[in-house]
Amino acid sequence: MEHTFAMIKPDAFENADEICKIIEGADFKIAEKESLTLTPAKAKSFYGEHKDRAFFSGLIEFITSGTIVAMVLEKENAVVDWRSLLGPTNSKQAEEEAPDSIRARYGTDVQKNAAHGSDSPSAAEREIKFFFPEFDLT
Ligand code: ATP
Repeated sequence: MEHTFAMIKPDAFENADEICKIIEGADFKIAEKESLTLTPAKAKSFYGEHKDRAFFSGLIEFITSGTIVAMVLEKENAVVDWRSLLGPTNSKQAEEEAPDSIRARYGTDVQKNAAHGSDSPSAAEREIKFFFPEFDLT
């Protein structure tokens, strides 16, 4: 069974229970789940690949502004299926192209986009280990 990493971002934390019901309704098992607030250092490390982008400081400020929910999701094709349930990165675009998606329903724009999903199996492994170092991926 494949695993992926999911994160409900601070802008959608108030809707976390509803989002988890959608996730389970789409046949994912939530194998791990933890609510926490990221420190700036941890956020910068998690989003390190974006450190030279113009939006980086805004992203760090946003992602550390409140509680997030970190999760490991389990399902066949978990990586692709979770990205599909999320919809496009920009919630405004998601409203046009995928109105039922999580980013359309719970996000606002390209930054406040409700949730994150790993974009490949290797990213999923890295991100799961980042938040859940004890998780057994075998
Ligand atoms: P995520 O990694 O959160 O699933 P993604 O892979 O769809 O999103 P990335 O391009 O990796 O998108 O960007 C990471 C995050 O940075 C986005 O989810 C969003 O919160 C923020 N972001 C991306 N592009 C912009 C932008 N142009 N302006 C502001 N914030 C942005």
